[in-house]
Amino acid sequence: MAANSAVPAKMKAWVYREHGDVATVLRLDSELEVPEVQEGQVLVKVLAAALNPVDTMRVNGVFQLPGSALPAVPGYDLAGIVVKVGREVKDLKVGDEVYGFMWHAKKDGTLAEYAAVEVAFLALKPKKLSFEEAASLPVVIQTAYGGLERAGLSRGKSVLVLGGAGGVGTITIQLAKEVFGASRVAATSSTGKLDLLKSLGADLAIDYTKVNFEDLPEKFDVVYDAVGQSARAVKAVKPGGSVVTIVEHGKELPPPAFSFVATSDCSTLEKVKPFLESGKVKPVIDPKSPFPFAQAIEAFSYLQTGRATGKVVIHPV
Ligand code: NDP
Repeated sequence: MAANSAVPAKMKAWVYREHGDVATVLRLDSELEVPEVQEGQVLVKVLAAALNPVDTMRVNGVFQLPGSALPAVPGYDLAGIVVKVGREVKDLKVGDEVYGFMWHAKKDGTLAEYAAVEVAFLALKPKKLSFEEAASLPVVIQTAYGGLERAGLSRGKSVLVLGGAGGVGTITIQLAKEVFGASRVAATSSTGKLDLLKSLGADLAIDYTKVNFEDLPEKFDVVYDAVGQSARAVKAVKPGGSVVTIVEHGKELPPPAFSFVATSDCSTLEKVKPFLESGKVKPVIDPKSPFPFAQAIEAFSYLQTGRATGKVVIHPV
């Protein structure tokens, strides 16, 4: 392992030692050991992180990977600089600017000054993006791309995105239009966010406070459900089309709906890279973001309102 004397032994990190409400159990620890770098991993100096609803579920214990242990650091998304390289790492070197996600995290996370991350979960940061912008993307790109692919979206087809203004929805609209070549993209949000949906490429922005999308005469080849509305979504799909939900898991879904959970590798980041570099797909950062590292609990509380627009980002770390 390449030694790097600039890496301290201890770091600041947000830590929970029991499961419960984020505001109750999450504490800032200034003396946490910097993680050891295992074979196939690099140590990243985290410069920005982003929150996802699943982070709250992990802290309160609703979502736990087998082998999860306490105390633990929350956070999946990160962007930063490689400061140490483990054995058998060939593709990254000290000084590389990277972004990615710790989908495998059982104990460690990205709300920390340093994170040891498998190389397979990282990609070189697109030069066009700031660290803050890059940190906002990995989980939602993986979720948006994977779900659209599984639903069979392809050039010339139409898609309806439920929850178009959220972290996943804002990226799903853009990928549907720019990467998958959808002929028509519709999306739902409340009144104040309709212009945002259009600016992201939606041809039809549906105000869910005034219109029931399933009552519209227009039907879609694919419905992408980022809200948890599959029972209604199946009424908005064309015969032979598909409905993917990223919210409703472990329950019987009305046909043709199926559930999708993002998988853990960074291949999608590579596929989407040209679109990020060209600016055809843009990160959407919530206007209240970024929250400084010391205000991570406020950032969680805000995300938990369910009203965030795009991504809630933590920066600087
Ligand atoms: P966000 O917290 O970013 O979503 C907030 C957005 O949801 C707001 O902009 C809000 O817009 C919108 N919204 C809320 N209710 C409705 C509604 N009834 N109709 C339309 N829009 C609505 O969440 P994410 O986008 O990050 O995640 C969405 C869901 O997907 C979460 O449940 C999350 O757990 C899940 N998820 C699943 C993954 C998987 O692998 N299966 C991975 C990532 C996320 P407005 O204010 O206009 O209502």
